[in-house]
Amino acid sequence: MISPVMPVYKRADLSFTHGEGPYLFGADGRRYLDFAAGIAVNAFGYAHPHLAGALTGQAQKTWHVSNIYRIPEGERLARRLCGLSFADTVFFTNSGLEAFECAVKVVRKYFSATGRPEKTRIICFQGCFHGRGMTAIAASKTEKMAGGFGPLIDMFDQVPYNDLAAVEAAITPATAAIALEPVQGEGGLRVATDAFMRGLRALCDRHGLLLVADEIQCGLGRTGRNFAYEWSGASPDVMCLAKALGNGFPVGACLATEKAAQGMTIGTHGSTFGGNPLAMAVGNAVLDLVEKPEFLPQVQRMGDYFRRRLEEVRRAFQGAFDDHRGRGLMQGLRCVNAEHHLRLVAALRDAGLLCVGASDQVIRFLPPLNIEEKHVDEAAALMHKIIAETI
Ligand SMILES: *Cc1c(COP(=O)(O)O)cnc(C)c1O
Repeated sequence: MISPVMPVYKRADLSFTHGEGPYLFGADGRRYLDFAAGIAVNAFGYAHPHLAGALTGQAQKTWHVSNIYRIPEGERLARRLCGLSFADTVFFTNSGLEAFECAVKVVRKYFSATGRPEKTRIICFQGCFHGRGMTAIAASKTEKMAGGFGPLIDMFDQVPYNDLAAVEAAITPATAAIALEPVQGEGGLRVATDAFMRGLRALCDRHGLLLVADEIQCGLGRTGRNFAYEWSGASPDVMCLAKALGNGFPVGACLATEKAAQGMTIGTHGSTFGGNPLAMAVGNAVLDLVEKPEFLPQVQRMGDYFRRRLEEVRRAFQGAFDDHRGRGLMQGLRCVNAEHHLRLVAALRDAGLLCVGASDQVIRFLPPLNIEEKHVDEAAALMHKIIAETI
């Protein structure tokens, strides 16, 4: 018999009663150090007083009003996101996939509005993940994501990641945009090289294409910069955010330059819930924390520290891990043996350390961004012990 909750997730037999900072407390009475953070969502951990206060404060006023009225908190969050980034304008969504959907609509509309309606196709990358909507799964093209859901919209041309020559070769008169994750999350923590990002920017400029960055997982401080594209010095024209933006309250955003968004006029897009006052109050509170001067230096310091400790783990188990990937506080180890991959994720979980699998046999660590050395030390100690016992 089918379960009342549609059985699309393979769930661990584990639930939680509450959380505090980087820890979750299980219904089993045990404490878990959360280095998955809701898959890069809980960037400031659990029960953060400033965020909880913003949510409950707004909950006493209005949860929702329609987008047919002005929403001052949303206007403020949009101004702040533009101030932090390359963008001039923002559309708020409830999820990552909706942010990506909006980005695709911005691209299509830009070319129709500027008299080039034949430019409809988007170049994307092997291993990409842009969400589970029909548009996003058409980009991913894998059997796991798209099998049985066809016919898929035919508008994505997929090429290998970090291969600029392949991108250039894939450009045709129908190409409208290039869309990439500056660090692939689900795809296995591959990092776009700075030269690749700059090369994509140059190709877009030369061919009149738009560059779309999906920073849903890697944005908002995760790599040690506000946005991962900043490491390269090359800015996109359109960017998707979600995950950390609400620290667990569902909110996403599609950011664009004035030029790229020129087709997005009244009536071209919308969302009932997107940008409602509750989401905007939490989003502004998250930005209060992101904008603190000590925040990014601390993420960079912890990212470097975690890199050193994870490198020790890799060296301690010669031959078990053949790659250590990622940037800032999104890092992972690639298992040589496919069998070890999910077995280790489960064993670490059972021992009290939450992490998450990714494609390509990568064990992925996405701790809250406000962790301290002692949390990294605790995670590293558990890894040494559990890996030794498990493989
Ligand atoms: C999680 C994720 C998405 C999808 O977000 P949802 O909120 O699950 O729809 C899209 N792109 C990237 C890079 C992601 O990590």
